[in-house]
Amino acid sequence: MAKEELECSFCGRKKPETSLLIAGLDAHICDRCIEQAHGIVVEESKQIEEGDLSAELKLRKPLKIKEFLDGYIIGQDTTKKVMSVAVYNHYKRLLQPATNDDIDIQKSNIIMVGQTGTGKTLIAKTIARMLNVPLAIVDATVLTEAGYVGEDVESILTRLLQAADYNLDKAQKGIVFIDEIDKIARKSDNPSITRDVSGEGVQQALLKLLEGTVVNVPPKGGRKHPDQKFIEVNTENILFIAGGAFDGIDRVISKRLNMQAVGYSASMSEDVVDQEHLLQYIIPKDLKDFGLIPEIIGRLPVLTYMNPLDAETLRAILTEPKNAIIKQYKKLFEMDDIDFSITDGALNFIVGKAIEYKLGARGLRSLCEEILTDAMFELPSSDEKTLNVTRAYAETKLTKTAIKKLKVVS
Ligand code: ADP
Repeated sequence: MAKEELECSFCGRKKPETSLLIAGLDAHICDRCIEQAHGIVVEESKQIEEGDLSAELKLRKPLKIKEFLDGYIIGQDTTKKVMSVAVYNHYKRLLQPATNDDIDIQKSNIIMVGQTGTGKTLIAKTIARMLNVPLAIVDATVLTEAGYVGEDVESILTRLLQAADYNLDKAQKGIVFIDEIDKIARKSDNPSITRDVSGEGVQQALLKLLEGTVVNVPPKGGRKHPDQKFIEVNTENILFIAGGAFDGIDRVISKRLNMQAVGYSASMSEDVVDQEHLLQYIIPKDLKDFGLIPEIIGRLPVLTYMNPLDAETLRAILTEPKNAIIKQYKKLFEMDDIDFSITDGALNFIVGKAIEYKLGARGLRSLCEEILTDAMFELPSSDEKTLNVTRAYAETKLTKTAIKKLKVVS
């Protein structure tokens, strides 16, 4: 065959009409066809990815979800169990084929009550990672009703779109974690006549979102980009997880339990109530008494609680989770061929300080950082290839000023 007669076997263009013609065994392909084919490959793999999401979701039974959570979250067994079921049911509902039996499975949005730093955000993050769905973490305190200074509730969905790289399909199957939900509680139990910008109004605005509705979302968020096109986001299949410390709710619970004790003296007498851990008795009515409106509580039907972290749990958090803090340092030192170890005494010292200064689990990392910074600075350039952190070492590195600094940060 004469050279000038070569042509693309896909589109038939002659060689001179192409910028590039690549030869295969028995055929040729031109640059344009390669580009087109590439486009098809990308599109196909996107669909496969989305298909995967469904396949994976189908596979994870609650027991497996809980096992996965166990790898990252210490303790909090009740919550892990409750969440596993809620998440399983939520995605089961999402994957259900359309039926005509009139049974409409409702959303299992979740509300978690527990002190700050007990792992609420961590659980939400871990679930999102396990399911490979996008996660938006928002702080309820910055939300206001439309028209007021602050962020509209729609901004929650802008965040979710961003987390999903603007893949609408993915965003609509994502998870939203609303932190500090207790901060938008009504301040008093009486509905006030004046408008309550930060509290009840925001709760009202959240209702539709939680329940499932189509919202026009500004993709870049805010009011700074007035001419952006809105994206329609359906919140029907978005899982909402709310969390809050609800400071003082133990008094509400205690009061209710005491009243019950009067009514049914035999069933809930003082000695069976674990006064130290009142959160375990929480019921939706307590949230209402705290100041959440009943409609919000109704749309967050799964209620669960987080235990405060005791010394034993803090200690386990340092060393046990898959990406435990100590494991991370070990890996960092390993990269410089340094053999890092830490004694039980030093670990107990760190836990003790975290408790003494009320730094919680969040403080563990900062304490370690303070103790290890000198070593991380010096050792990579020295000949020393081992580092054994003892209690005495930790004590000398952790000065009083360092602790003061940590207290300000956390
Ligand atoms: P919250 O959202 O309840 O305020 P976080 O989830 O942000 O708390 O927890 C802060 C950090 O503390 C986490 O990043 C994690 O390192 C650690 N942490 C807290 N609770 C646990 C837990 N139960 N298991 C493992 N790590 C935890």
